Amino acid sequence: MTDFSLKERVALVTGGSRGIGRAIALEFAARGAAVVVNYHKSPQAANDAVKQIQDQGGKAASMQADVSDFKQAEALVKFTVDTFGDLSILVNNAGITKDTLIMMMTEADWDAVIATNLKSAFNCSKAAVKHMMRKRYGRIINMASVAGQMGNPGQVNYSASKGGQIAFTKALAREVAARNITVNAIAPGFVDTEILNAMPAGTLEAALKMVPLARTAKPEEIAYAAAFLASDQAAYITGQTLGVDGGMAMM
Ligand code: NAP
Repeated sequence: MTDFSLKERVALVTGGSRGIGRAIALEFAARGAAVVVNYHKSPQAANDAVKQIQDQGGKAASMQADVSDFKQAEALVKFTVDTFGDLSILVNNAGITKDTLIMMMTEADWDAVIATNLKSAFNCSKAAVKHMMRKRYGRIINMASVAGQMGNPGQVNYSASKGGQIAFTKALAREVAARNITVNAIAPGFVDTEILNAMPAGTLEAALKMVPLARTAKPEEIAYAAAFLASDQAAYITGQTLGVDGGMAMM
């Protein structure tokens, strides 16, 4: 039976301290990967995730880094290779929202979201690909969103960042395929994490009317998709965006 094992693999999950990233870190570790849990502002949450993995017999370490910063992202990748001797799976998951209509959106709202959600994928992938090319193996998974496929009012910055991640995924997949590195994106719909707390009251209920499965996802349901894309069994899948959205955006 195929078990989608990640034994002997080393994974870096950006924004692994909370929400979807945390669920991915735990799922990867349960499948045998050593995991670096990156965080920005929540050291306690990152330490808890690391402890949970270690208590279950897994290998994990945490590192603070703002992945929107080129040098900090580079240092994070170096930390991963120095700590566990490899970097075979990169999950560009860190993300923020700063939602408002374009008339009210500030330049700072735009810049922060594009830098955290999109530039970070460039920063981390550039450093990781250097290592993966030498090893002739790699899995890169970018956490996009249905907003990047469908657009969402009040989220021109977020939608642009996620649409950018999807295009980035395709371009990079073509660049690195010859070195046995796959690059894919996941496009979740509404996932039950703290990021949803920023939505105005009533918006989620209205939005769920667009979801055929009529509920939010659990973070673990995104993590299972990530584990599959990270596995050896997904070797022939690259440049794709996997919707895990309850049927919201059928592309
Ligand atoms: P979340 O619960 O708010 O967690 C966000 C994570 O990103 C935290 O671990 C946070 O770390 C980290 N982070 C934020 N800025 C960072 C930075 N500059 N450098 C490093 N880490 C940073 O969000 P989530 O819902 O799990 O979302 C995770 C990803 O899924 C995001 O890319 C989001 O856009 C995407 N997504 C979410 C949904 C949803 O409905 N939840 C839907 C579609 C896509 P600290 O706490 O340490 O700051």
